[in-house]
Amino acid sequence: MKLKDGVFVYPWTSEQENNSSSYLFTGKVNLLVDPGLKFNAENLKEQMEEDGFDWKNINLIINTHLHPDHCEGDPAFKRKDVLLAYHQEEDKMFKSFGRQFFELFGLEPPDFQADFFLKDGDLILGEKNVQVYHTPGHSPGSICLYFPDTRCLVSGDLIFYGGVGRTDFPGGNGRLLKQSIERMETLDIDCLLPGHGEILQGAKEIKENFRLIKRNYFGLI
Ligand SMILES: [Zn+2]
Repeated sequence: MKLKDGVFVYPWTSEQENNSSSYLFTGKVNLLVDPGLKFNAENLKEQMEEDGFDWKNINLIINTHLHPDHCEGDPAFKRKDVLLAYHQEEDKMFKSFGRQFFELFGLEPPDFQADFFLKDGDLILGEKNVQVYHTPGHSPGSICLYFPDTRCLVSGDLIFYGGVGRTDFPGGNGRLLKQSIERMETLDIDCLLPGHGEILQGAKEIKENFRLIKRNYFGLI
C-alpha cells in the first residue's frame, strides 16, 4: 500500500501466523526493509506489483535485525546486483547462535551475507539521505532507519504501536532497549513504521505512543 510518495507499507496483521511487516522506499535507489518470512515472499512481490512497482527493481535490502521473521525471505529478493546490509553486531549474533534461532522456529537458516555493514550515521541513497541508528536491546545489532524527507522511522522490533520488542531472546538487553527508545524519542517523527502490528501516523500520536510505552513498560524491562 502506498503511504506517501516513495513510501510503501506492507504491514503484517495476521494473528494466526507470525511475520514481520515490510517497507519499500522508492527513488533513485529502491530500498526494501525486512522482506519477512520466505513463505510470504511471492505474496509480497504481488502486492508490490499491484502498487505499480516491479520488485526486480529493488537495489538494496536492509534488515533491521536478523531474527527469522525479518530476514528469512532475503534470498527471494536478492538478485545479482542487489545489495544487502545490516549491522555487524547482528552478523556476529547470526554466526554465533543464529542457526539455533532458526531451528527453534523449525526453519532452515537462509544462506546470505551482507555486502556491507550499517553503522550509526548517514546513508546516502541516491537523492535521499537516510539516518541509520544502532538501537540495541531487542537484539545486539538492531537498527532503526530515519528518513528526514518524510519523517518516517522504521523502528524494527524496538518499538511498536502500543508496545516494545522482547528482550528475552539471546542478545537481548532491557537497559539498552530503554536507552535506544529514549534516543529515538528525540527525533521528529511523523510516521512510525514498526516491525510488527499497525503503523502509526501523526507527530502528536507518536509522541503519545512514546509516553505510554515509557509509562507502561519501562518499569518492567
Ligand atoms: Zn525480532
